Amino acid sequence: MKALEDKILKEGQVYPGNVLKVGSFLNHQIDVPFMCECAKEFYSLFKDAGVNKVLTIEASGIAIAALTAQYFECPLVFAKKSKTSNIADNVYSSAVKSFTHNCVNQVMVEKAYLNPGDKVLVIDDFLAHGEALRGLFDLIDQAGAEVVGAGILIEKAFQNGGTPLRSQGYRIESLARVASMDADSGTVTFVE
Ligand code: 5GP
Repeated sequence: MKALEDKILKEGQVYPGNVLKVGSFLNHQIDVPFMCECAKEFYSLFKDAGVNKVLTIEASGIAIAALTAQYFECPLVFAKKSKTSNIADNVYSSAVKSFTHNCVNQVMVEKAYLNPGDKVLVIDDFLAHGEALRGLFDLIDQAGAEVVGAGILIEKAFQNGGTPLRSQGYRIESLARVASMDADSGTVTFVE
């Protein structure tokens, strides 16, 4: 999606450790009209797939996932990263290594919110090594539901998380695919 690539070039900042900071429109301040355009794009990619639920992981996937769910007219479920008093014991859970925080979270969803027969579209802001997607796909499998695919805003293709998942047969659609980034020069290039 050209508009997303342009936005990344204009507003993104490359940090050491291959981290792309897009706080001005996605990860801190949210450009809601622009995110709606991205959500519309996910809808047009997956509109024939029978999606009846959108799943993401807290916190930064929630905004784009909620906007996407609005186009599908279906609920959004977000996996929680820590157990709080308002989550029941009856959960599906999966270990996910966090790219940005360098720790392992036991992510969980209450069993009531993922059911056999659900056709689930996973939405997330970034795809790096694929840990978050793997964990979310695992939760869907545990529920006996179906993974329709994943919609990602920014895939850092050079970190290769998408390759093994696509070869397992998962449909992963990314709106921008970063080929390389350099923290010293601040440059970002995209996959053609
Ligand atoms: P993965 O699990 O694919 O290694 O990493 C994806 C998760 O890490 C996403 O949910 C996202 O929140 C976070 N992430 C990975 N790379 C970046 C990045 O360059 N910038 C930001 N802001 N988040 C990232």
